[in-house]
Amino acid sequence: LDLKSEDLIPLKELGAGNGGTVSQVMHVTTKTVMAKKIIHIDVNPNVRKQIHRELQILHDCNSRYIVSFYGAFITDSDISMCMEFMDVGSLDGIYKKNGPVPLGILGKITLAVLEGLNYLYESHRIIHRDVKPSNILVNSKGQIKICDFGVSGQLINSIADTFVGTSNYMSPERIQGASYSVRSDVWSVGITLMELALGRFPFPPDGSQLTVLELLQHIVNEPAPTLPAGEFPEDFRDLVGKCLIKDVNTRPSPNELLKHPYVKASAEAQVDVEAWAKCIKR
Ligand code: ADP
Ligand code: MG
Repeated sequence: LDLKSEDLIPLKELGAGNGGTVSQVMHVTTKTVMAKKIIHIDVNPNVRKQIHRELQILHDCNSRYIVSFYGAFITDSDISMCMEFMDVGSLDGIYKKNGPVPLGILGKITLAVLEGLNYLYESHRIIHRDVKPSNILVNSKGQIKICDFGVSGQLINSIADTFVGTSNYMSPERIQGASYSVRSDVWSVGITLMELALGRFPFPPDGSQLTVLELLQHIVNEPAPTLPAGEFPEDFRDLVGKCLIKDVNTRPSPNELLKHPYVKASAEAQVDVEAWAKCIKR
């Protein structure tokens, strides 16, 4: 599919994040609705071409747990990436409008995220680097998929040079400047699952407001947060606890977590994700 800017009709703005804006568009020649992400980064044309080249790996990332990629193109000083449009939206918007995510759905989210991360790592040696509720998307068929992972080393560098890259979902070792590993993504999975289960960001436990620096210090120096006992199943609390092991060398990988009893049970469970997705307020 040869994507050109002039073949895309804008339909709706979907949101903006660190360095990107996303809109819903219609590809006129194929009548395909897509999500188009425009990334504006000030880099020279050669770097832009390198990023464009590196993004082509996305064509090989095919999994039911990964948002599909249609193509990327360069216009002026922007890079545009076109991907599968997920009509129910991202989990941050979903829980903020609908409250904490129900337990059965949380199991299916856990499974989708771990399967997606495991696929990226085992099949392509890709580490996600930005696991958070806004990068987990849902559609009205009840599918749950992850997006916005770091495929292009040059794009990661260029964004890092342009923006101060701190995130509330960063693991203790990342805050302390260690290199990224797939286990750092697992920490972010733990924070994300807690946030979806509680209906609020889990730091600090008392819900007070922290500055960015205080939050980072808290993550490094304080014990990891835990889900309240009694309100959540023990196997789910145990899984989140394993994701939030502070020592990266002891923390499990996605592959190891796929064998966790909670994840196995979630894979077997009969849950009507489609029915849930269809009654989400947007
Ligand atoms: P962030 O992930 O930090 O919120 P992004 O620029 O990646 O910032 O995305 C902005 C918003 O656009 C997201 O919060 C999400 O709700 C929406 N979005 C991104 N990609 C898609 C997609 N493929 N389908 C539907 N909505 C999307
Ligand atoms: Mg995103």
